[in-house]
Amino acid sequence: QFNGTLDIHRRDEIGQLAKSFQRMTEKLSENDRMRKEFISDVSHDFQSPLLNIKGYANLLMDSGLPEQERKSYAKVIQSETERLSSLTKQLLLLTSLDQLESPLKQVNFRLDEQIKEVVRKQRWLLEEKQMALVMELDEVAMTGDPAFLEKVWENLLSNALKYTETGGEIDIRLLDGTVDVKIIFQDNGAGIAKENLSRLFDRFYRVDHSRTQEVEGTGLGLSIVHQVVKLHGGSVEIASEVGVGTTFTVILPKL
Ligand code: ADP
Repeated sequence: QFNGTLDIHRRDEIGQLAKSFQRMTEKLSENDRMRKEFISDVSHDFQSPLLNIKGYANLLMDSGLPEQERKSYAKVIQSETERLSSLTKQLLLLTSLDQLESPLKQVNFRLDEQIKEVVRKQRWLLEEKQMALVMELDEVAMTGDPAFLEKVWENLLSNALKYTETGGEIDIRLLDGTVDVKIIFQDNGAGIAKENLSRLFDRFYRVDHSRTQEVEGTGLGLSIVHQVVKLHGGSVEIASEVGVGTTFTVILPKL
C-alpha cells in the first residue's frame, strides 16, 4: 500500500517507480547543470572579444592617433570580429546537430575528392607555416551528409596545422576497407597528454590554457567532429604523445 512517500528500497512496483523517478530527477538536474555551464561558457567566450572590440573602438575615436597605431587597433577589431563570427558559426552548427529534425542527408559523393578540396582551401595556411603534406587517398564513394562531413576534415586539418610548429608534417590517409573507411590525420606537433584525452570532445574544452592561449580556438571543433561522426554511425580514435604528435582516426561504416 502506498503511504505518500516513495521508498526506493521497496522491492515491489512502487519501489521500481520510485527508482525510475529518482533516475529521471537526476537526469533532469544533470541536463540543467550542463545547460547552465554551457550558457556561462558561451557568455564568457563572447565577452572577451566584445570587450576588446569596445576598448579599441574607443581608442580609435581619438582623432590625433598616428596612422600606424590606428591600423594596429583596427587589426585587433578585425581579428576579434572574426573570432566572434567563427564562434557563432560553430555554435549554430552544434545547435543544428543537437536539434536535427530530419535525418542526415544521404548523398553519394567521392570522399577523396571532398578531402582534397578541404586541403585546397587551407593550402595557403600550409604554405604560410611551411608544412610538409603527405596525402594518400584511396578512391572512395561515400554516402552521407557532405556538408557536415566537410566540417570534420576542416576541423581536423586546421587543428593539425594549429598545434604543429612551423615546418612540421601532416599526413592524411584515406583507406578503403570492406566494412568501413578510415580517414587518418596525423601530425608531428605538440601532442596531447594522456590525462586530457578523455575530455577532448567536450564542448569548450581546450588543453592547458597557458600553452594553447596563443593559438586561437573555441574548444568546439572536436565536439563537432565527434557529433558528426557519431551521427554517421562511426567513431573517432585518438593516439597522441606529447612532443611527438597526434593521430586522429575517423572510422565510418560503409552502407
Ligand atoms: P580548439 O578550438 O581549441 O582548437 P578543439 O575542440 O578543436 O578546439 O580542440 C580541443 C583541444 O584539443 C585544443 O584546444 C587542443 O589543445 C587539443 N588538440 C586538438 N587537436 C590537436 C592536435 N592535432 N594536436 C595537439 N592538440 C590538439
